[in-house]
Amino acid sequence: MSAEDTGSRAKPVNHNTVRLTFLSIPENESIGRTLAAAYAAVSDPTLEELMDFKTAVSEAVTNAILHAYPESEGDIEMELSRDESRVKVVVTDFGIGIRDIEKSMEPLYTTDTSGERSGMGFTFMEAFSDHLEVISEPGRGTRVYLTKRMGGR
Ligand code: ATP
Ligand code: MG
Repeated sequence: MSAEDTGSRAKPVNHNTVRLTFLSIPENESIGRTLAAAYAAVSDPTLEELMDFKTAVSEAVTNAILHAYPESEGDIEMELSRDESRVKVVVTDFGIGIRDIEKSMEPLYTTDTSGERSGMGFTFMEAFSDHLEVISEPGRGTRVYLTKRMGGR
């Protein structure tokens, strides 16, 4: 393809958006987390920023894997993007959704009955990122936006 052909798609490096779609099975948590960490590493993060970002992303991906498709498996999408000072990740599922987001985000709130979960995922996402936003529609799915400042900026 010639330079002219690709010209309309050329974008500044800062807009290097990366997208991944994966199935809601447990082994894909580490794939999502590791990709997010590799992406964030380019923004020159401190070790603490990188670890915090990984933790926040891990909680978002784990939630989609565990809660979105309780009776089946389904797709989860992750989109990573950056600007000069921040890395952003959007984790989307198309599962059962969350009826009461405010309540779900309260510390220790969980719908899990196995006793294995502590209801701290959203609390950690909030604590380990700079901005968290959750939108969800019952029966349609859930989208989590996380933003983290990198490199002390
Ligand atoms: P922990 O994260 O501590 O293991 P948890 O996943 O139950 O426990 P949170 O991550 O805070 O706790 O989530 C709270 C509740 O929100 C979950 O129990 C679940 O009911 C609901 N929830 C979270 N993410 C999703 C999602 N992607 N789809 C459907 N429900 C979700
Ligand atoms: Mg959780």
